[in-house]
Amino acid sequence: MIIDSHVHVGTFPSVESAGHLLSTVPDVVAFRTRHRELYERFAREEPLDNGEALLKDMDKFGVEKAIVQSRPGISNDFVAAIAARHPERLIPIAVPTPWPTPADDPRDKGRMMSPRDVAEELERCITELGMIGVGEIFLRRLTRKLHPEDIADDLAPMMEVIAAHETSVQIPTAWTQLPGGLYYGDPIWVDEVANRHPSARIILTKMGREIDHLFENCLSVAMRNENVYLEVSGSSSNHLRRALQVIGPSRLLFGTDWSPVWRFVRDPAPVVLKSIRNVEEATDDSGIRRQLFSSTALNLYNVPISRWARHARERRELSHHRDDR
Ligand SMILES: [Zn+2]
Repeated sequence: MIIDSHVHVGTFPSVESAGHLLSTVPDVVAFRTRHRELYERFAREEPLDNGEALLKDMDKFGVEKAIVQSRPGISNDFVAAIAARHPERLIPIAVPTPWPTPADDPRDKGRMMSPRDVAEELERCITELGMIGVGEIFLRRLTRKLHPEDIADDLAPMMEVIAAHETSVQIPTAWTQLPGGLYYGDPIWVDEVANRHPSARIILTKMGREIDHLFENCLSVAMRNENVYLEVSGSSSNHLRRALQVIGPSRLLFGTDWSPVWRFVRDPAPVVLKSIRNVEEATDDSGIRRQLFSSTALNLYNVPISRWARHARERRELSHHRDDR
């Protein structure tokens, strides 16, 4: 069984029309600057449900379940609604610090969120929407601090909610195709957060994205903190092999970073296939492969996954009940 821990859902008409411009990794990275007008169009469009396109790719590559989160311009409520249509296969997590869109610049003070607001939004996502954890937070929405201890102060209210619900948070590493915030892609500051909140689990997504010095910093943070996990999308089989040697398989997590943009990439391979191949190239051991493909995710999300199934079932029964009346 394969569980994909890292998937972004929700899309826009302009994104769907841009597939022919997004067939390689450099195409995706340069899309915002190379086709600025087309890139910026989504900020003025209505979002679309792309759950069916995701399920088609999951079936094609043998992925059983996906932990889904938002992308720029998509709300937590929209993600929960997509997942609720396929509750046995799509399990939603919250992004309480929305990623920027061209119409929404976090450098504008009015667009930033206070640490309290972030904690409240997360609490709402967990208790009202039934979300089971936290996806990739966008640090710049919440802080403009540079010192690790100051960053950890601003994150504290959110981390306390995560610890209270015995859940986890994904923190992105390296670069993104979005404007701003690159500084926080070096995870060295996460050491301070992990140390202060030992019962909250922290997943460093993309584990440095094939960039050696960022990968080494991911390893340093994970070596020092038992509550830190590394997620493998965008990484390489070499880095994965080294991570297996240094921290072992139980804190390594399979993910693909599938999104309405990344799903178009075909060269060198579709993102889901590339992540599966990285794991298979890094180890022949079937037990270790099983640990990466599903056991770590079950360990991180198992109790919450059943919580989501219950939440989705109750919602369904409630709406049937309403229909009956
Ligand atoms: Zn991602």
